[in-house]
Amino acid sequence: MAYQTLYLKYRSQTFGDLVGQDAIAQTLKNAVEQGRVAHAYLFSGVRGTGKTSTARILAKAINCLNRKGAEPCGVCANCVEITSGAAVDLIEIDAASNRGIDEIRDLRERVKYLPAVLKAKIYIIDEAHMLTTEAFNALLKTLEEPPAHVVFVLATTEPHKIPLTVASRCQRFDFRRIETGSIAAHLASIVEHEQVKVDPQSLALLARLARGSMRDGITLLDQLISQGGEELTVQKTHELLGLADPDTLVRMLAYATEGDAAQTLEELQRFYDAGGDVRQLVRGLLGAIREAALLSVGYRDAESLGGAASAGLERIGRAAGRNALLGLWKGLMEMEPELRKGADARLLLEVTLLSNMTQPVHAVVPVAAPTVEAVGGERLIEPAMDAEAAVLAPDARWDALKQKLPKPVGSLLMEARLAAATDGLVRIEFRYPAHAELMNGPKNRETLLTAVREVFGPEARVELVADEKKGVSAAPVPARASGSIADDPLVKEAMNRFDATNLRVTPRGRG
Ligand SMILES: [Zn+2]
Repeated sequence: MAYQTLYLKYRSQTFGDLVGQDAIAQTLKNAVEQGRVAHAYLFSGVRGTGKTSTARILAKAINCLNRKGAEPCGVCANCVEITSGAAVDLIEIDAASNRGIDEIRDLRERVKYLPAVLKAKIYIIDEAHMLTTEAFNALLKTLEEPPAHVVFVLATTEPHKIPLTVASRCQRFDFRRIETGSIAAHLASIVEHEQVKVDPQSLALLARLARGSMRDGITLLDQLISQGGEELTVQKTHELLGLADPDTLVRMLAYATEGDAAQTLEELQRFYDAGGDVRQLVRGLLGAIREAALLSVGYRDAESLGGAASAGLERIGRAAGRNALLGLWKGLMEMEPELRKGADARLLLEVTLLSNMTQPVHAVVPVAAPTVEAVGGERLIEPAMDAEAAVLAPDARWDALKQKLPKPVGSLLMEARLAAATDGLVRIEFRYPAHAELMNGPKNRETLLTAVREVFGPEARVELVADEKKGVSAAPVPARASGSIADDPLVKEAMNRFDATNLRVTPRGRG
């Protein structure tokens, strides 16, 4: 027999099997028992919360030849046909794959015919919000005068995208995220049936990673069992999922809260080299910080890492204090939207950690003598700083600049230095070309220029320089001729807005 995924194998087959959706199951059971099934339902909720499983159970309950109360028997011809996926009168349309135009056109034709085998035709339209306007209009016509022998179930993760005209003709159920404990318990029962050994900590971890989606939880378990064999410990689970093991999390958090940047980055490097997933590391760190903060006030909950790791986190929590943990936690949370935009996860984590850890005092970086350069066709001469500018020493201004910038932008300056600040030209030298590149993004650049002008005077201009020799990143800052960069519409806009004449990125040695 072909391998059946655990998700399909353990899919709920009765209302009683459904996990975490008790209110919905009860309402539907009542409707079935009282013969008051609606013509159209709208099931909304995040993925993996039981929407299509419920739709199929409902289809069986409506068509079962030997129903027990509201529950389908599971063994009559109709139940078997539906369960096997062969029922011609159960039509499943995946609106995400082809947006449903042909199917809905087809549906309008065929919906008037009586079911071939079953008592009622059931249409399950998954990801219904993806239907085209044309398809929605066709569907609406059918919903306005639904034939007696048809039941529609629209399932969607984005109910707000369903036209009101359609939604208002459906009975709506909102599927909740399934509680972590319920997912863990269900995974435990699967593990028992499958006769594999998975420790409870691993199951709790999977349940947490599933974030309310039973399907995600079961899929992860399936993946682990097929990779990890018959016995899974929490260490092995971490390893297989690319998660940081608890010891790594504790060590990293300890270094970060002690302000040991070098060791923190080294831990990150080791994790990265071992093939770890940086996004998962961020999630792991968030969980560890949460636990450290809770343990420091004497609160212990079900999601703890347990054992030596928890003891370590408790020590860190007490030593670092709540504010330091909160700062770090906030910084990591702020990464999430940037990651979604496709930012380099490792780079972002580096700057986030660096900018949020307790800073050891650095030696003042000597200001290099700026080279005289032609910028925008205009020769820069190097006069002494004017009296007003001399009031604040360059390093004090540099600190002030970093303070002024909002977090994600300011973080990019952690490993940069002020190479020159003369004659209104503020040259910033980045250790890592990739940081310079990020700073050179239109929005960051604009934010930086505003802050620079607040600190260095309204006429100040900015030059970003990347030091490729010292850098570890392989991606150099693209060398662009000043002519082409000035043609960039975003640059133009920024330059107009700030009345700038010179704004450019110069890889060192190429300028
Ligand atoms: Zn049956």
